[in-house]
Amino acid sequence: MSNVVQYARQGRTGVITVDYPPVNALGLDVRTGLLQALEAALADAEADVLVLAAAGRTFMAGADIREFGKPSQPPILPDVIARFDASPKPIVAAIHGTALGGGLELALACHFRVALRSARLGLPEVKLGLLPGSGGTQRLPRLIGAVKALDMIISGDPVSAAAALEMGIIDALDDGDSALDAALRFAQRVRDESLPAIPVRERTERIAGTDPALFAEVRAGLAKRAPQLFSPHRCVDAVEAAVTLPFEDGLKRERELFLACMDSPQRAGLIHAFFAEREAAKVPGLPAGTPLRPVRTVAVIGAGTMGGGIAMCFANAGIPVLLLEVKQEALDKGVAGVRRNYEATAKKGKLTAAEVEARMGLIRPTLDYADLKDADLVIEAVFENMAIKKQIFATLDRVCKPGAILATNTSTLDIDEIATATRRPQDVVGMHFFSPANVMKLLENVRGAKTADDVAATVMEVGKRIGKVSVLVGVCYGFVGNRMLHQRGREAVALVDEGASPQQVDKVLTDFGFPMGQFAMGDLAGIDVGWRIREERRKAGDPDAPEPNWVDKLAEQGRFGQKTGAGIYRYEPGSRTPLPDPEVEALIAAYRAGKGIAPRAVPDHEILERCLYVMVNEGARILEEGIAARALDVDVVWIYGYGFPAYRGGPMFWADRIGLKTVYEAVKRFHETLGGTQWEPAPLLERLAREGKRFGDL
Ligand code: NAD
Repeated sequence: MSNVVQYARQGRTGVITVDYPPVNALGLDVRTGLLQALEAALADAEADVLVLAAAGRTFMAGADIREFGKPSQPPILPDVIARFDASPKPIVAAIHGTALGGGLELALACHFRVALRSARLGLPEVKLGLLPGSGGTQRLPRLIGAVKALDMIISGDPVSAAAALEMGIIDALDDGDSALDAALRFAQRVRDESLPAIPVRERTERIAGTDPALFAEVRAGLAKRAPQLFSPHRCVDAVEAAVTLPFEDGLKRERELFLACMDSPQRAGLIHAFFAEREAAKVPGLPAGTPLRPVRTVAVIGAGTMGGGIAMCFANAGIPVLLLEVKQEALDKGVAGVRRNYEATAKKGKLTAAEVEARMGLIRPTLDYADLKDADLVIEAVFENMAIKKQIFATLDRVCKPGAILATNTSTLDIDEIATATRRPQDVVGMHFFSPANVMKLLENVRGAKTADDVAATVMEVGKRIGKVSVLVGVCYGFVGNRMLHQRGREAVALVDEGASPQQVDKVLTDFGFPMGQFAMGDLAGIDVGWRIREERRKAGDPDAPEPNWVDKLAEQGRFGQKTGAGIYRYEPGSRTPLPDPEVEALIAAYRAGKGIAPRAVPDHEILERCLYVMVNEGARILEEGIAARALDVDVVWIYGYGFPAYRGGPMFWADRIGLKTVYEAVKRFHETLGGTQWEPAPLLERLAREGKRFGDL
């Protein structure tokens, strides 16, 4: 008998229990055990109804992630599921926790499903570039109709047990705390009321009469929303097969489509992204048992764009947060901004009025540093100015209790220098949020030279608590994300100098899969930020300060981007859609003429190579310097902070798939033809290319 799946009888009900902590994943042992237990149950003459249940905290929550991306060993899940489907004895699935992926597919092959109210059910395969390949795309539409099945399968989002009951995925909802007891009671009903045990595969009433136009409509929607993604389109094909083909043929079609997804490079990218996110949380050199400092109350200094958003992150997680400004007016403005933000969310129906008030209630505005004496964590988010930041950290050093974590949200400044303003550099750390801070998933935590282990471990844990994907990196100009972005930005400007248009550069990047291009992003953040920095350097007589480029000339005219209604693009009033502007074209043409540049047609592939290879080369330097510990950390920063398409796995994974020899040779060629330190091949890139290795091998 299997040691992870047991069979036992309770009265006349045969109970199959999966017990494979932590999440009863459907690995090889569980699949084998399920078949053995089912055989025992079918052979047990005393059992007339069966229950499929799971021990521990959840029903089967999906495939075993250790088998992801590998061919699975027999018995494969579709075969196991076929045996449950063919059972002559009715089977009741007892669902608690989460029934996800293969777990839900197995439950769909049972005759009845009972779930606790707290349970959630879903088919998240699409998020890993796959589709439900064990009958899910064929059985779910038979239970809930094609429209709702498409919704669930294409989004990959789980639904609550209550929603599942309403849709018809489950047959009963139970308010108790034992799914097994609920299923045993249901088994008694099956007996007492002679409930007809019709296999899902035989139910056709919900799919009969499906409008064939539905599929064209969904495909058109996808073509707009996710044109580059492979698996959502295959999900539509599979559900269409469910309504147009007999069950067995539909299953075959689902299998073919599933295998096509398995072969897709997008699946490899998405699975890399999935594991990279999990791995990023495990920092080399910070063992799992590193002690954490308790963080119960937080303070944020500065209630501007970032400070307000950061305060919301904590309020959203139920953590009280003080918000400090120097002037009442700025404080009022900041708090009003936060309220406006919450109210907009409430208007969309995503928060209740009571929730808005509860969250606002957790944010306490103050002008007095004395209020910070009990804060466990302080995050500074004032102007990007070293002198101001140092002054604030000196004050924090005076007022904060011993052991309080003193964090800065700086994008570029040297955290080690900021730490010198205190007598406790071990407590100083960077917590770099991305704008809008309450929305963007990435938290780039920055460890200074003297930051203590428990401080680094705590900010990683805090990131998790507030729902961020956290990465730990080291100190350098721009850290990982902005340092690489800076290189891409400079290359994008140079490409326009040479003859490309801003919209051509942006289109190459959005066609690649970025949600927005370099220049549209500049307009969103405000092109005045970089211009002011360069202006200051020029005014200070910095010999390395660059001459004003065409972007600076736009900023000089007050065209700062979206906030002024015009920047590199123009914007219709109230719209965020970037529109090409003839005035900008003229300004660029004049700029080129002034520099004696004869514009040339720049091919799209050159734009892509120059914008991305320059980042990969910089990423290699970042790895070499130990600023990021692993290539996957760089990938996570770019996927969650800058919208690098997850299905391409991040810049370093993407480069690995192209082959580092190819990337290196292109970088070398650009160095020879274009010059510039940014194109000097990183020694690490050169070495890996020579050795035929990948960043992922490091
Ligand atoms: P902002 O100008 O919107 O806000 C700064 C706020 O700090 C203002 O409300 C100002 O009144 C307040 N302030 C200034 N001096 C202060 C002081 N001595 N004490 C208390 N409050 C003070 O700026 P922002 O965009 O929120 O940027 C803040 C920090 O976050 C900067 O270090 C910036 O580099 C960093 N950052 C910004 C972004 C972004 O996209 N805006 C992204 C990541 C990090």
